[in-house]
Amino acid sequence: MLHTDVAIVGAGPAGMALALMLAIRDCRVILLERQGEEKLSNPLDDGREIALTYKSVRLLQSLGAWQRLKSGEQSPLNSALVVDGNSPSYLDFNTRGRGPLGFIVPNNAIRRVLYEAVCENGNIQLQTNSAVIGTRCEATRRLVQLESGQDIAAALLVAADSRFSEVRRMAGIGADMRDFGRVAVLGPVRTEREHGGIARECFRYGSTLALLPMPDPYTCSAVVTISASCAEEIMGYDDEAFAAHVQTESTGALGAVEAFGRRYCYPLVAVYAHRFFAERFALVGDAAVGMHPVTAHGFNLGLAGANSLASQLHNVSRLYRSAGLSLALSRYQVQRRLESHPIYTGTNRVVDLFTDDELPAKLMRKVILRIGEHFPPVRRAIVHQLSR
Ligand SMILES: Cc1cc2nc3c(=O)[nH]c(=O)nc-3n(C[C@H](O)[C@H](O)[C@H](O)COP(=O)(O)OP(=O)(O)OC[C@H]3O[C@@H](n4cnc5c(N)ncnc54)[C@H](O)[C@@H]3O)c2cc1C
Repeated sequence: MLHTDVAIVGAGPAGMALALMLAIRDCRVILLERQGEEKLSNPLDDGREIALTYKSVRLLQSLGAWQRLKSGEQSPLNSALVVDGNSPSYLDFNTRGRGPLGFIVPNNAIRRVLYEAVCENGNIQLQTNSAVIGTRCEATRRLVQLESGQDIAAALLVAADSRFSEVRRMAGIGADMRDFGRVAVLGPVRTEREHGGIARECFRYGSTLALLPMPDPYTCSAVVTISASCAEEIMGYDDEAFAAHVQTESTGALGAVEAFGRRYCYPLVAVYAHRFFAERFALVGDAAVGMHPVTAHGFNLGLAGANSLASQLHNVSRLYRSAGLSLALSRYQVQRRLESHPIYTGTNRVVDLFTDDELPAKLMRKVILRIGEHFPPVRRAIVHQLSR
């Protein structure tokens, strides 16, 4: 039996960030990951370009991860334009000359720099090819059984094993799941005109297109959100057909479009756990809150959640006092729900409104965009929230 202060299941971005935050507070951490070492040390491109807030950048800096990004792996997000249907008006979210709204970094680069920081930290023991098959509480510790037959005893077990978390279920915590019946198809495109660091979100009828600026001024990541029934068709498009789709949906805003490289397809399912903790057990990252990507909050919330859990635990001694640990976990839950629930429900409402092509919804969208366009306080509030 291996003994540790905290065992974390899932070496995704949230699990690795939490491991580092706890290790800095002198906790001994065992990080369990189902995938092999090779996939973690050299994570392949998965098409995701992650928009990060300033708060997330500061957290990644404090973990010694941000500094490890190579030049050309992060690009500034100067502003975001939202266009609805065939409407000529749009909403422009920008900081009015006070710097970028945030930064865009490929998901595989985030995973790589966190992995490098984890490997260099003597308080973290990473176990790859390790899957958890069961867990139970015994006196003042959590026992974790691995598929390999090994057992681990930890003062706290944390599940960071994705929105479809098996360990959340093993701990008896349910979750509300919202399957949008849609998929996001992602792929890089070259454009005739420079993107200027501007993200464009075009809510057309029947499908949505986002163009996210990449480090090259003429390259964007195109994100097409469409009914799951059309997933096969659009994934079967050749480069010309995909480029034509993107060009039509963007109404030629960046001129001619050329598609290249691999495309990826993600089913869109949002998840909100019923509770964020149980006895000597907590959830972080997508295992706690799995967001629809349209508002680009998923990992930003995951990082903030990891930070809040690590701050509540404060130091190792709290882990071994049952009453102190319960109080810390319940405070963590209150804090996280207060921040994440309004964002989760708000994002789902935006998705509902902007994917409903019935006349009342179309009219409501136009009204909202007009209010935003002519009522700057609404826009400023959203920009403040994005660029905190
Ligand atoms: C298309 C798309 C665009 C996005 N854009 C943004 C954005 O712009 N901004 C933003 O903030 N977020 C964005 N997100 C969300 C972001 O990618 C996720 O929130 C983030 O990756 C979640 O990290 P995680 O560590 O919680 O989970 P995951 O990345 O899912 O990692 C979970 C890890 O756990 C491991 N695992 C699973 N089960 C087990 C097990 N039983 N035992 C051991 N290991 C296990 C997996 O192998 C994996 O390594 C986007 C998501 C998508 C799909």
